[in-house]
Parts: sequence; structure tokens; C-alpha cells
Amino acid sequence: MTTPRIDFELKPSAHPLSAAERETVLADPGFGRHFTDHMVTISWTEGRGWHDAQLRPYAPLEVHPSNMILHYAQTIFEGLKAYRQPDGSVATFRPDANARRFQNSARRLAMPELPVETFVEACDLLVRQDADWVPGSGEESLYLRPFMIANENGLGVRPASEYLFIVIASPAGAYFPRGVKPVSVWLSEEYVRAAPGGMGAAKTGGNYAGSLAARAAAMEQGCDEVVWLDAVERRYVEEMGGMNLYFVYGEGSDARIVTPELTGTLLPGITRDSLLNIAQDMGFGTGEARISTDEWRTGNADGTLTEVFACGTAAVITPVGEVKSAHGQWLVGDGEPGPITKRLREALLAVQTGRAPDPHGWMHQLA
Ligand SMILES: *Cc1c(COP(=O)(O)O)cnc(C)c1O
Repeated sequence: MTTPRIDFELKPSAHPLSAAERETVLADPGFGRHFTDHMVTISWTEGRGWHDAQLRPYAPLEVHPSNMILHYAQTIFEGLKAYRQPDGSVATFRPDANARRFQNSARRLAMPELPVETFVEACDLLVRQDADWVPGSGEESLYLRPFMIANENGLGVRPASEYLFIVIASPAGAYFPRGVKPVSVWLSEEYVRAAPGGMGAAKTGGNYAGSLAARAAAMEQGCDEVVWLDAVERRYVEEMGGMNLYFVYGEGSDARIVTPELTGTLLPGITRDSLLNIAQDMGFGTGEARISTDEWRTGNADGTLTEVFACGTAAVITPVGEVKSAHGQWLVGDGEPGPITKRLREALLAVQTGRAPDPHGWMHQLA
């Protein structure tokens, strides 16, 4: 079945921020604090499908207190970045992969699937309209947040009959403005993020709501982040609740780079997938496997496990420097960012910022 093309109605803002005001924001954007002049919205209604696609001014939504989204949390989201390219153009990184993951998340939450090409077109429209908001240099980017919410008024647990898809955009500064800094992590044995059969592979707000108490517990232990373990044995490493994890065994050209396998309870990160490819391109051995906390501890103790890092769209790659658990704590290597972690980070950023060839065709060029 072919999907009918959706036409977007263009209603640009009559009052965009002045160039001077925008430049003030772009001088120190931070992350997720400022939003561009526009957003894209598309409605879905049972029996009618997708309709009323619009590019329009960024503005508050009107939500009734009985809106099902506020009660039953049918909500999914994505995150991807648009980077300024050396020739001044703008390109997004693998938007089709985000679109497909968005469809998978929608299926898990019994929401309608947005066609991949409509998802990508919505992102393209917003980036083109607000292209002046894409920062000019290096690791800075325009972060895109496509999301979908239930949009039907009434109580009663069932899939909503109406939904709203929205894309907003936020300029993002370099994640590590003062150099890459390793994080310390807490192995969470008390709380779990996702159980088999749950929604761990879907990008949905509920997974984040459930993670906040664990994050607070990690911070009480003096750690920056939580590492989630499998729900059944509380033994196998899953992910970092917003970033996937990688383990580097050995050194130099003999290094082998392993990431926890996709068991259905962790989020299939696009950065994770991209790094598997890049590591292979660079000649490293790669693997997807179950990795236990015991293997992590003994590997660091005997030196076979040399580096550990987390990866995701926001930070690209973050080294893990120190691990703490209820049973003790240890350093990863010497606690500093490792050479392979740094090489992989630089290699991926070079593709994203157009400083290196793009052999996998990941960059989606916008005029
Ligand atoms: C988004 C996300 C990631 C990272 O995915 P990317 O596509 O690489 O940004 C990892 N874990 C969770 C829970 C996430 O929500």
C-alpha cells in the first residue's frame, strides 16, 4: 500500500526573533533551554489518518485537563541533530533511522505510525525554515525533538483516537565545552529500567519517569549517572538510561569493541549502531554480547578491559571513568578518557560535521 503524500501548510511566524537576539542565544545556547521560531505539527484522527500538517510559529499547546496524554502517558519521542557543514549548508544525521525507530516506538505504545518520509520531511521543513538557528561551528548543532502525544479528551484506558505529532528545535552548544570529561556511574541493583516484555526498546517518557528516583540515588552515592542492569538477574549491563554503553578490550589495532546486545530491554541507539560501523571501518574487532558486572570489575582489575564509554545523540561519546556499586568501587583504566574512546568520538563527529567522508550515506543534506 502506498501512503498518500502529505502536503504541509506553511504559516511562518510574523514575529521571529531578531538576528541580534538570536545571536545572543547562539553565543551560549546550553542544551534544551531555547527553542527556534517555528514548529511542525501533524494531527492524526481515527478513520481519517494524518491530516493538517503545518509549519507554524512555536507556541504553547492548548490541553484539556481530561486529555488522555496527561493520564495514560501515550507519548514517544526522538532526538537528532542538524550540523552546519564546512560549505555553510546544513545536514541532519540519519533522520531515516530516527523515523524507523519512531515507528517501532509507536507500535509498542499502540499509537499510529508516521510514514518515514513524512517524519523526515517534517524535520527538513523546520530546519530549512529556522536554518539561521543552526550554530556555525564544530560540535554545536541544532537539536531536533520530534514527538507524538495522545490528544483525545476523556478518561478510560484504551488507545486514544486522536494524536498530535510535533517537531521542535533547540540550538545545542558543545556537550563538553571545556574538554571531554569522564563520568562516574552507579550500578543500580535496586531499581530496574525495563523488564522483558516491557517498553525498554521504545523511546517513551515513561522510561525516563521511572529512572529519576534511581538517578537521585546515584547522585547520593556521588555518581553522575546510573547504569541499568537486566531486570531478571540484576547482573548483566544494559545501558546508561539515555546512552548506550561500549566496552573496549585490549589496546591499539588489536582492540575489540563490544556493546551489550539488544535484548529488547535496552534502547537501540543510532549512535550505538553508527559506532559499530565506524569501529569496523577503522579495523577494530566489534561484538554485541551480554556483559556482566563481574566481567566489568575483573576486566578492569586485570587490565583486559581498557576503556568504557557511553554514547548517544546529545553527548556523542562520554567516557566512563569510575564505577560504584553496593559491593565496591573501581576505576576504568586510569579514570581518564582512553585513546580509542577519543578516536571514535573524533571519527563520528568528523562525519557529522562534514570534515570526513560519509561512506555509509548517513548525512541528509539540506540546501
Ligand atoms: C535516545 C536514547 C539512547 C541513545 O540513542 P541515540 O539514538 O544514540 O541518541 C539510549 N538510551 C535511551 C534510553 C534513549 O532514550
